[in-house]
Amino acid sequence: MKKYENMMEAFVEGELQVMRSSLGCCTCEQCLNDVAAHALNHLPPRYVVTPAGGAISKADTMRIQHLTDVRTALIQAAQVVKENPRH
Ligand SMILES: [Zn+2]
Repeated sequence: MKKYENMMEAFVEGELQVMRSSLGCCTCEQCLNDVAAHALNHLPPRYVVTPAGGAISKADTMRIQHLTDVRTALIQAAQVVKENPRH
């Protein structure tokens, strides 16, 4: 059973849902997945050990610290996907 995860994935997915309408690229599932994957490739992974059934207590702190980086990466990723859509 996996006991760790990359918190950056949750941040990117969360911000993507918030920003999707303002990114200016296609919002089909394929394109949004491409944006998320591209952004994650340009962001540092943040692996944490997940307590069984417990919430990640540092999540909110992390979120604030890296929000700007996540948004910048998503905007850049959306630009790439917009220019090279795979759908
Ligand atoms: Zn699309």
